[in-house]
Amino acid sequence: MSSEEKKEISILILEDNPQDIALYKRRFARQSTEYDFHVDSVSTIADAIDMTKTKQHDCYVVDYRLPDGEGMDFIHHLNSVNDPSLPCAILMITGQGNEEVAVEAMKSGVHEYLTKKSITEGYFVRPVLNSIQRAQLSSEIAFYQKELERSNKELSDFTHTASHDLKSPLRRIIAYCDMLIEDTAAKLNEDELGILKRMKLNATRMQSLINDLLMFSLIRTEEERPSKVSIGDVIGDVIEELKEQLEENSAQIIYGKLPELYVYPLRIKQLFTNLFSNALKYRSEKDPVIKVSYTQEDGQPAIICVEDNGMGIDKKFHNDIFQEFKRLHNQEDIEGTGLGLPICKKIAEKHHGEIWVESEPGKGSKFCFAIGDINS
Ligand code: ADP
Repeated sequence: MSSEEKKEISILILEDNPQDIALYKRRFARQSTEYDFHVDSVSTIADAIDMTKTKQHDCYVVDYRLPDGEGMDFIHHLNSVNDPSLPCAILMITGQGNEEVAVEAMKSGVHEYLTKKSITEGYFVRPVLNSIQRAQLSSEIAFYQKELERSNKELSDFTHTASHDLKSPLRRIIAYCDMLIEDTAAKLNEDELGILKRMKLNATRMQSLINDLLMFSLIRTEEERPSKVSIGDVIGDVIEELKEQLEENSAQIIYGKLPELYVYPLRIKQLFTNLFSNALKYRSEKDPVIKVSYTQEDGQPAIICVEDNGMGIDKKFHNDIFQEFKRLHNQEDIEGTGLGLPICKKIAEKHHGEIWVESEPGKGSKFCFAIGDINS
């Protein structure tokens, strides 16, 4: 292989033992037929930090113990100054193997971890190359993740703006329909009046759809601050807002002691609103009884369930119903947009959780969602 084809790799060794530095350099020199290693070395964290100000190396080989601190201090510094989308491989070296240190190092972005003993036995350049490859992959992932977030936000902003702009003309169409129905009802025959009423019904459906689309696009991007709220209080507010529908259906909502949780309050309120409204819409012959329960095991996410005695759902649809626009009923039977449960799913995901259903036709449904630690 000619020297022009050789891959150039810059390395910074942070090590205070000159014999170790000499050993690492010899190992790199042995691979010089394939790679063109440019090796710098420093013996203190302060010098290493100084060097990062002028140059970013492809790989940092960092000793665990150094005269002015621990190698981890330098790694934390590197993480704070490095652009995550630029590859920066880190290999940590310790005197003796220690599992705890290895785990801490890996969690802090170290790509490879070696003991001095394994280096003396000849194992060195391969892990350095591995760490460079891993750093390359991590930075590619970081790049695509950023891209994905950007394009998701763009799409979400577009949906938000488009939905928002559609709202006011639609409101006017509904108002004109009302005016026409009021002013001309006496002059129109039954068919003509029917058409007018259907026009209003369709415009109203479109209004619900736009509202749900707006809600759907808002969940990811909105800036609501999380806070600790009493779930019982949230449910109390939702019951107040659904009072009329609950009375019309002779429905009751039963709940015992519920916790205080760290959540996005408006979103959690929306989630309960959607689940309660569905329990009323998809009711059975019986008067609706909706029960809210809560469990949490040590160190696990809180799980809240909303159980109804409604018509129930066949097992084969248990996943489908959380997909956008998936409805098991047509508009003429029961009104809906097919976005209620997907909105709930997004809200659960925003809380680092998930949502699922347990249900059988004729036996009611139990929707459960997990609320994770949104500070982590
Ligand atoms: P929508 O109610 O607007 O149709 P959802 O996304 O809220 O949309 O629900 C999707 C489908 O899941 C509904 O069409 C319905 O068939 C079913 N579903 C939702 N909640 C219940 C429930 N509590 N009981 C029975 N079926 C339900």
